[in-house]
Amino acid sequence: MKKDDKASISLIKILGISLVLIFMTSIGVMASNASLTSVKIILSNDYEMTVLTSKTTVGEILEENHIVLLEDETVTPDKQEELPDNKTIKIVKKTEEEQGIAKEEAVVTTEEILATYDTIVEKIVTEQVEIPFETITKEATGEGTKQNQVIQKGQNGLKEVKYKVKYQNDVEIERTEISSTILKEPVDKIVQVRTVQVTSRGTERTATTNPALTASSSLAKKVEGITPTVKTMNTSAYDACVKCCGKTNGITSSGAKASPWYTIAAGKGYKIGTIIYIPYFKNKPNGGWFVVQDRGGAISNNKIDIFMSTHSECLQFGRRNLECYIYEF
Ligand SMILES: [Zn+2]
Repeated sequence: MKKDDKASISLIKILGISLVLIFMTSIGVMASNASLTSVKIILSNDYEMTVLTSKTTVGEILEENHIVLLEDETVTPDKQEELPDNKTIKIVKKTEEEQGIAKEEAVVTTEEILATYDTIVEKIVTEQVEIPFETITKEATGEGTKQNQVIQKGQNGLKEVKYKVKYQNDVEIERTEISSTILKEPVDKIVQVRTVQVTSRGTERTATTNPALTASSSLAKKVEGITPTVKTMNTSAYDACVKCCGKTNGITSSGAKASPWYTIAAGKGYKIGTIIYIPYFKNKPNGGWFVVQDRGGAISNNKIDIFMSTHSECLQFGRRNLECYIYEF
């Protein structure tokens, strides 16, 4: 073969291959032409363009034509939507309102963005809340056997409170009281306070125990409910003799006949009928329980005289300071 022949064969081959390629391309173009759609795109500056496309969604068509939406532009229909029946895609500037929202969103902090991912739920919650009672003290006047006394029990009240509660991921994050309705008013506790009276009767204190509760004497039974005061008294004894009383009938100033291991003479600070327990005499026939039945000229409020059977008994007893439990009523 000649060199020229070789060249001409090659040319034919190239032509042949080219023809085939052209043919195939034509088929391809024809094929695509078959599904091409004419779409009108209106840009935000009102410029209109018509493009042919085989794409079906708005976003794809824009991309194909290298149309990029600016930050302040929006497209109708949305990018992900299918081409509408009127085959028109319209790009417009966002309204100021939309832009404003966009700007606001732009300045929120990372924390706020994260917070918006958590669902915040607001609920109106109604709860019943106890209202604690108050304690009021009232000063008592006059004589009394009790130092402090509760004269009215305290009771908690109840109110119904409405709150607006914010929950984030089911956790309460904020609570605001909206309204409150009292269902039940609290009742004040009232304590009557009796100030310790300073009298000429000398130092008295309230007993911590009440001997009447454990005594069998009938006098003790009468005063079980009374808290006694305790005082140390200068104690002496007397009987119905002339030396002691100037008379011998044994009639006391209360009018009752004096009885040993029962009758006591006391100062005017103690009313007739006051019951006095003297532990010193607890093994005597009266168990130590006496009643104020008599008065005596020489008897002050810090002294008592115990009525005994005989003068010698009185002398034997002499004079002693004894602790006395005084029951007044
Ligand atoms: Zn006497």
